[in-house]
Parts: sequence; C-alpha cells; structure tokens
Amino acid sequence: MKIDYLKEILQKAENIVCLAGKEMSREMGIHTYIEAAKAYEIEETYGSSPEELYTAQCLATRPEKFYEYYRNEVLMQDKEPSSAYYALAKLQTKVNLSWIITRSIYDLPKRAGCQNVINLHGTIFNSHCPRCGQPYSKEYILEAKKVPLCEKCGVPLNPGVTMMGEMVDNHAITKAADAVSKADVLLVLGANLRSKICSEELQYFHGKKLVLINPEKHYMDHIADLVINENVEDVMNQLVEIL
Ligand SMILES: [Zn+2]
Repeated sequence: MKIDYLKEILQKAENIVCLAGKEMSREMGIHTYIEAAKAYEIEETYGSSPEELYTAQCLATRPEKFYEYYRNEVLMQDKEPSSAYYALAKLQTKVNLSWIITRSIYDLPKRAGCQNVINLHGTIFNSHCPRCGQPYSKEYILEAKKVPLCEKCGVPLNPGVTMMGEMVDNHAITKAADAVSKADVLLVLGANLRSKICSEELQYFHGKKLVLINPEKHYMDHIADLVINENVEDVMNQLVEIL
C-alpha cells in the first residue's frame, strides 16, 4: 500500500521539508486569480484584470480600486484551515518535519498549529503602514469604508502580501532555499512538479526521497520517488491515523 510506504519514508527521514501547494487551498474552495474562469469573472466585475488590479502600481495609483478588489476577492476568501492542515500539524509532532513552505497568504499551516512555517508571499495578517510600520488587523481593512489609512500618517496601508509582479521577500526566499537544501525528504502536497512553488524550490533539493501527493496526474510525476494521486486532505487524514 502506498500509504504504508509513505509512512515508512516519513518515519525514517531525518529532516523533512513540506511544500504546501495551492491545490490544498483549492480543496477548501479558495480560488486563485490564475484560474481562467475566475479571472474572467473579475474582469467583468471590476473592468480590469487581476493582473492589473493585484499590483503595487494599482495600489499606488488607484488605491480605492485595489482595496475593493483586495477586500472582496482576497480577504473574503479567508477560511479556517481544513483538516489537512491540522493533520500536517499532527504529523509534525510524530516525524522530523522541520519546515513547511507555502505561497498561500492565509497563514493556514500556522493557524492549524504547525511550527516553522515560511510564508513566501506574506500573509493577510501582515498589513502595515508603509511609512511608520504600524501593524493593522484584517478587520481594520475590512471595516475601512474605502481605502484603509494609517491613523497616524494618513497614508494607504500596505496589505503585507506579495502582489503580482512584485519581488518576493528576499529573507523568506533564502530561508526556504536553505531549508530545502538540508532536507533528506521533500514532501510536496497539492502541487505538481511544474507548479510555481516546485519550480522555485526543487532546484535546491538534493535529498533522498521526493514524495508527491496531488490529486491530478501530471507528466512530471515520474520524477518523484512516491506519487499518490489522491485528494491531499484524504491522504493526510489517513496518514495521521496510522502513525
Ligand atoms: Zn503610519
């Protein structure tokens, strides 16, 4: 059984790093602007594409438009973590799972109790004033009438997430690359090997076993040492039952 082999790999591993991919969010019903149907719907509603709206340039020149999009399409999709994330947190107490790396901005692994999470694209809980650095809550942004402003400086807040076309935080990139380079097992959840997160991180992996759990089959799957093409949440729940 593949699940038993998965258990064996993880139990023998000395340093596992997990890449938590976007399929994990999609299983929860969180959509990304990259999905074509969603992008079309957004263009219909806002008169601009997500590529135009979700940018630092839009925030600088049309902050009202930016925050309308950000509130309705990004913040409103926030949900409590699924059981897959709680299973991941439980897994961390049973095997040597050192780091969890994600591009998701909802801070789901940490909210489910995971330790050592690297949020490559920041999180929706990092809003702050670009001038004085004062942090602001998600609620503050949701309750702001139009553009959420710093109470002290009166300038539009920075949402604290990486927008399209923006450089990813260098510190997070270095930390993730370092973590992956030291892993003997890389556990990829909810992403294919050509996904953004894998394209960025796989180059640093020189360990023994590459494990992939992703519902959709992909032509690159054969590169992994173990592939389970099933729903991530189901596999993770089965796994923690037998650990
Ligand atoms: Zn300020």
